[in-house]
Amino acid sequence: MHTKNLPARDRACIWHPYTQMQTAELPIAISHAKDATLYTTDGKSYLDAISSWWVTLHGHANEYIAQKVYQQLQTLEHVIFAGFTHPSAVLLCERLLEILPSNQQKLFFSDNGSTAVEVGLKMAFQYWYNQNINKTKVLAFKNAYHGDTFGAMAVSGRSAFTAPFAPFLFDVVYIDVPHAHNAQACFEEVEQLVAKGDVAAFVFEPLVQGAGGMIMYEPAHLDRLLSICKANKVITIADEVMTGFGRTGKLFACDYLQQQPDIMCLSKGLTGGTMPMSLTSCAQYIYDAFLSTSKLKTFFHGHSYTANPVACAAALASLDILLSPDCNNNIQNINRAHVDFQALIVQHPKVKSCRVRGTILAVEYVTNEATSYLNSKRDFMAKFCLSKGVLLRPLGNVLYVLPPYCISATQLQTAYKTMHDLADAL
Ligand code: PMP
Repeated sequence: MHTKNLPARDRACIWHPYTQMQTAELPIAISHAKDATLYTTDGKSYLDAISSWWVTLHGHANEYIAQKVYQQLQTLEHVIFAGFTHPSAVLLCERLLEILPSNQQKLFFSDNGSTAVEVGLKMAFQYWYNQNINKTKVLAFKNAYHGDTFGAMAVSGRSAFTAPFAPFLFDVVYIDVPHAHNAQACFEEVEQLVAKGDVAAFVFEPLVQGAGGMIMYEPAHLDRLLSICKANKVITIADEVMTGFGRTGKLFACDYLQQQPDIMCLSKGLTGGTMPMSLTSCAQYIYDAFLSTSKLKTFFHGHSYTANPVACAAALASLDILLSPDCNNNIQNINRAHVDFQALIVQHPKVKSCRVRGTILAVEYVTNEATSYLNSKRDFMAKFCLSKGVLLRPLGNVLYVLPPYCISATQLQTAYKTMHDLADAL
């Protein structure tokens, strides 16, 4: 392929996500990648310590997934999913139901994390509508991030991301994320909020708020919130778009809980990072509320590429690897290495805190500024890491490692050293 002047040619025709195009440097052109390493067109390499926006589960250019994708492409590349089905979609859902929380009974396909959340919200809202019950309030956490489409933006915390669209977003009641110091107040507030009986749903990122800065909280606190919701007939929607498929050390963050959510949103790691696809799962009682002789109760939602067979084949292959004992060992080894590094880095005077949950490690640096996505040190931090050959993409003054599970012990140490060197450089 013609790769000459790729960054400049890119700038001439492409508008990139989350990028101020006036001030951004030219993009880095990647020609190929293998396992945890990205290779540029001009002969450099970068360690992908963030799984390319949290999607790459088993490393880049995984041969097993590639083979399964190729076989699927030669057999059936796509078919309309209304009135038709295909083996890979059915098998994928059968296998997922075996590993999801036991109350999850039906799965609905869409294309990405944001649409998985849209589908979850629409399922919840129409669940009440189909029964002529007027419940329209939604609870969400302050500082949440659920995606960039309108419903997903509406339930995300209000921030610089959502400011231009604020007039177009439906109202949401925001609650504090429970930590040791505020948990009791938080539970009491939620008890009061749901007591009126008009709350339709509570949507949350279980145990780790990702884009909001890798904020972590305890399973026991979330369990308490879910039981309050359950007792008050509030539908609970777990957004496992980031946490799903082993990231938190268990297959799903909800596996840490006693309670089960009514709806779950899955994407990112679903296909091992190979193809865009998502799934929204739900309890049987949600699905049943759409069954009727009247077409008016139908769930009128669908996308052209719903349940794309190639994406399903990638997801099945990814699942084969994820459920292997080797992969589980890798996940536990990453966690152990994280915990060791955490003990070390928290002693650095430029480190405010270090959090670990499963394979996710986040370091919050002291910058004499409030913690925020727009922290002025952010660009310096990103560049510093790239200059050391490591792709670590800060969320403001928070730097995190969220690696593909195949990352080697040596590569992990390289990421840690970069984070440590950065603390020295700040
Ligand atoms: N929910 C969560 C928790 C996420 O972290 C993200 C993406 N970072 C999304 C939803 C949106 O996913 P997507 O970017 O695939 O639309």
